[in-house]
Amino acid sequence: MALSEVVVLSLGGTISSTDTGDRGVAPSLSGEDLVKDVPEIAEVAEVTAQSFRQMPGSELTLDDLVELSAEIKRRIEGGVKGVVVTQGTDSIEETAFVLDLLVDEAEPVVVTGAMRNPTLPGAEGPANLLASVRVAASDAARGVGAVVVMNDEIHAARFVQKTHTSNPATFRSPLTGPIGYISEDNVRLVTRPVGSYHVALSEKTQNRPVALYTVALGDDGSLLSFIKQSGYGGLVVEAFGVGHVHSTIAQTLEDLAEEMPVVLASRTGSGEVHRSTYSFVGSESDLLSRCLINAGMLDGPKARLLLSVLLRIGTPKEQIAAQFEHWFGG
Ligand code: ASP
Repeated sequence: MALSEVVVLSLGGTISSTDTGDRGVAPSLSGEDLVKDVPEIAEVAEVTAQSFRQMPGSELTLDDLVELSAEIKRRIEGGVKGVVVTQGTDSIEETAFVLDLLVDEAEPVVVTGAMRNPTLPGAEGPANLLASVRVAASDAARGVGAVVVMNDEIHAARFVQKTHTSNPATFRSPLTGPIGYISEDNVRLVTRPVGSYHVALSEKTQNRPVALYTVALGDDGSLLSFIKQSGYGGLVVEAFGVGHVHSTIAQTLEDLAEEMPVVLASRTGSGEVHRSTYSFVGSESDLLSRCLINAGMLDGPKARLLLSVLLRIGTPKEQIAAQFEHWFGG
């Protein structure tokens, strides 16, 4: 039986890094190098590779991802059965989420990387790449949206987070757990995320910067006064717990929410922002009554990306809250 076609689009990151002879490693291996390094891949799928970018995860931008999503769609139209993106793990939880928003095809889009670079004992890039090609070539992962495959686990892009600086088991989905795993050569999907939310975004649209602000004990929010004059088109506030800030910040946020969409997320990174549990000034119900938008179950970085994408397609401020609800209702 003919093997399925899978394309590997490499963006750089630790998985592709080699010794620079200077102060450590930096991305240098091409997509083809990565695939050649894992001969077992040839038994799983017919793989072609393309180096789409060559940079650390921290260098990627939304513009890169808009271009990447267009390339993924072109490849799928051209007949590939699945797509693997290799990149720096630093931003995987964000890039995978953007791909989940922008690519609405059923073909699997799998994002992977490595925590240990190829010069280290126990480098896990080759194993992650092989597992990702298995998932990309599988029927099981069709229609579940973008996923992150690392350490033999499959995580839905909308829930996954990088939770440790260096441990290879860094990727977790604290709210839900992984949606599947790889065992020997089997791809096992044990659950499927409900619903999907897609945005059609043309490569020609302009970026609208969105600020991400985390509150902290005793913070009076002085920094917030620079948000508007710095040219931001929106703001995501990572508040305490279920959505709380110090009372002195509440009015500043209300003023900002008159000017731009201000989304209320939680700095805890997991669980929903509440709506009507507390009533004090600076509580979640107070802030929502001041026209802040509830991020629901999205953490701060993901809420920021959803808002960025919505602003980029020109969504009017009055419709942003409904879009967050829509995403949430999935
Ligand atoms: N530690 C990162 C990685 O795993 C570095 C980066 O994101 O490029 O690839």
